Amino acid sequence: MRTQRQVVDYALRRRALLAEVYSGRVGTMEVCDASPYLLRAAKFHGEPSEVTCPVCRKEQLTLVSWVYGDELKHASGSARNPEELARMAGLFEEFTVYVVEVCRTCSWNHLVRSYVLGTRGLRARRRTAAE
Ligand SMILES: [Zn+2]
Repeated sequence: MRTQRQVVDYALRRRALLAEVYSGRVGTMEVCDASPYLLRAAKFHGEPSEVTCPVCRKEQLTLVSWVYGDELKHASGSARNPEELARMAGLFEEFTVYVVEVCRTCSWNHLVRSYVLGTRGLRARRRTAAE
């Protein structure tokens, strides 16, 4: 998306946690703990990914994008699909998106990345281009 910025990737943390799980130091019960709310969001607002669940390997993970920001008011803390994110990016100045991967079979879930969207990014970019 055009206004995407401040991208943080959580792949290292995910890999470290999975290493703990594979070695048995962390139980799958502890990491496969998606709440009913998250599972429901995955069903209705999630997008399929190409990544197979690293724990049960039975299905491909679903990505759920959660939005947070003061400007969003009551919509802050809700799950949004890609079309809604694109629309919101043109409506609001700034909000943060947290992408969580979820396995709807075993309930594995982990933060994948976070980033900021919103029209403030466009302005900043325009200013840079004009300099
Ligand atoms: Zn799974």
